[in-house]
Amino acid sequence: MRRLVLLLVSGVAVAAGAACAPRAPERLNVVLLSLDTVRADHLGCYGYGRATSPNLDAFARTATLYRRSFSSAPWTLPTHASLFTGRYSFEHGAHGLRSKDPARSLAALPPERVTLAEVLDERGYATAAFVANTGFLSRRCGVNQGFEIYQTRRLPARELNAAAMAFVRKPRKQPFFLFLNYMEAHRPYDTRPRPGLLERPPSQDPNLIPRLYDAVLPGKADAPAALVRDLVDQYDTAIANLDEEVGNLLAALTAAGHEDDTIVVITSDHGEFFGEHRLAEHSKDVYQEVLAVPLIVRSPGQRVGRVVDTVASSVDVPRLVLDHLPKLGNWPEQFPLAIGNHPVLAEEYYARPKDLWHPIWGPRFDRVRTAFFEWPAKLIESSDGQHELYDLSRDAREVDNRFAAEPAAAARLTQALARFRAERGAPAAAPEAPAAAPEDLEELKALGYVGG
Ligand SMILES: [Zn+2]
Repeated sequence: MRRLVLLLVSGVAVAAGAACAPRAPERLNVVLLSLDTVRADHLGCYGYGRATSPNLDAFARTATLYRRSFSSAPWTLPTHASLFTGRYSFEHGAHGLRSKDPARSLAALPPERVTLAEVLDERGYATAAFVANTGFLSRRCGVNQGFEIYQTRRLPARELNAAAMAFVRKPRKQPFFLFLNYMEAHRPYDTRPRPGLLERPPSQDPNLIPRLYDAVLPGKADAPAALVRDLVDQYDTAIANLDEEVGNLLAALTAAGHEDDTIVVITSDHGEFFGEHRLAEHSKDVYQEVLAVPLIVRSPGQRVGRVVDTVASSVDVPRLVLDHLPKLGNWPEQFPLAIGNHPVLAEEYYARPKDLWHPIWGPRFDRVRTAFFEWPAKLIESSDGQHELYDLSRDAREVDNRFAAEPAAAARLTQALARFRAERGAPAAAPEAPAAAPEDLEELKALGYVGG
């Protein structure tokens, strides 16, 4: 008998996957790909005009694409902690702290939090992670919990794939959970030219992001159009380079016989600013440019693509995976948040120390910002009182702040956010971070997060 996976979509149960695998559910493998820094709106399957993502687009045609998918934070650590624990930053505790010491500017994921890797590991899965973001996914950050193999090296996607496929191909009786984090689209972008993508080769200037910082972060001027164009060319080239390798990994999984016995989840941890809202790179704020991320899921044996409008979040990923594995445990109890059954929010606690304490633009970031979605309304609650309210259906770029003009809607969303946080036991204060080891600081410097 064909196995049908039930997903709640807009309150209606529908069958996901045109044809599902005959294999027993507890034997299914899980592959989770994190495309670091990839904005949804720069992918063809999310409507982008450039051919940045032919392989992801082809994958989406046989998978379920969540059109309104938002990361739980605009930077790496808190979102990955959500992807692994099914909890928001205020619950899992791994987020930024207001500290002048870079070593104490973030809180790691506490060991008592239960991760997807831990529950799969406990139930006999072989678990492995191949991670290129060495700054905020290091073991110090606590997100390695549950992985037998946890490799963090800033390697190109091709080499990560080779390591991942060596793990996949290893003869074993038990199923596997494979996690990959790719950094091609993260600063410094992979700007190796791609024939046919752009009209002219991308700039190889490594200083475009620092120039954008200087141009927009003082908050007094918009970004020069030529600079934005050059940066976007670099970024799109990086996405296209990454897309090729994602395609190669998917093809290798199929060649290894894992098309029909494996759940594949492809997402990102945050997007990137190119001068919008006078912002650059990521972290710093909770506008759509850094929150709207891809979420594409292929159930085992799925052949027919679907598009889902229900608002989804990074916190939904563990249940998305585990709902395919009903025999393994009582998932609604351990991971209660699932797509469509809870309010969606995203949080930013201050910014990186180099920005938070910057003499010119630091004051812009000395605040905690929470985005709260009640589609198409989006509230931004700000600890400095600079609240915002947008209607994303007609103002996708968030330029018309309706907070003062629509007090009833603003109050309703503010109360709904407070109620949800109270229900989920929001803590009064953020936890303390342990001191960073010197090698971690070197990694952060290499990634451009410290100094400069
Ligand atoms: Zn990231």
